[in-house]
Amino acid sequence: MEKANESIQKLKKKAFKKIALLILLSISSCSKSDEGVSPIGPEPGQEVSFLPVVVHIIHSGETIGEGPNLSDERIRRQIEILNEDFRRKQGTRGFNDHPVSEDSKIEFVLAKQTTDGTPTNGINRINADQVTIPDLGYNQNHYSQYDYWPPDQFINIWVTPLPESAMCLALGEATGPDTDLPGSEFLALPGPNDSEGILINWMHFGESDIDCHAKYGRTLTHEMGHYLGLLHTWGNKDCESNDYCDDTPAVDEPVYGRIAFLGCNDEAVMIENYMNYSEDDVMNVFTKNQIARMHYVLKNHKGRKALLNSIGLNNP
Ligand SMILES: [Zn+2]
Repeated sequence: MEKANESIQKLKKKAFKKIALLILLSISSCSKSDEGVSPIGPEPGQEVSFLPVVVHIIHSGETIGEGPNLSDERIRRQIEILNEDFRRKQGTRGFNDHPVSEDSKIEFVLAKQTTDGTPTNGINRINADQVTIPDLGYNQNHYSQYDYWPPDQFINIWVTPLPESAMCLALGEATGPDTDLPGSEFLALPGPNDSEGILINWMHFGESDIDCHAKYGRTLTHEMGHYLGLLHTWGNKDCESNDYCDDTPAVDEPVYGRIAFLGCNDEAVMIENYMNYSEDDVMNVFTKNQIARMHYVLKNHKGRKALLNSIGLNNP
């Protein structure tokens, strides 16, 4: 038990280090100018692109529904929220009527079978107390030691058992796809031996009534944006640097909160964009350029493209 507490403390320390690192990274994150390729988004009448996800729930033996061992219902609701946001569904928080936005035609499905044809509900529960692994820090390489499904067949999401003191401080992170899209170098690109996927602090996975702005499941929407090639809207924190999306107003500092302010060129920032650090209940926009970048990744990145034909999408 002491050992578990100790490793939580270590994780906690690492989580805070990571936040500092993320702040540093965000300085060099995103882009250099609005120039670059103009990737094409979903074409009129295009069918929906379905992507399979596996949610690895890392817990310490709690009953299902308690603490980090989140209930099936909460996990399913999180995937539903992700789809409401990506599909801009009417009657949900993910809907908007912004002229620069549209339905991304990208949708996520909890995996239905593993690569060897075993049926699954896409939820993989792991009691971390029963597994001894080297501490590789707070990152995908560490959590993939518990379980890692082939990343060209599944989007791996690890729901991490951080202590409650990390609430609202450590939200999530994602590796990015390496493509020739401008600004890709500012994503967290995995090396040849690194694991790919998304980490979400369990308190921010799904909907809840926690005392934090990030309580409506938009952390996963944001991280999935990174996983499919999107940068933060503020790019390199330089008015000459941005996210390579012409239809997101240029801004040279991170966008937090719920009130828009004037960014570069005295243009109001797009507070409602998912690729900000805005509060969950004001976010509801991916722009057409952002959507086009994600479709470019799905067409041109080998691993992401392969997801479209994953065995995990179909019943065994
Ligand atoms: Zn981010």
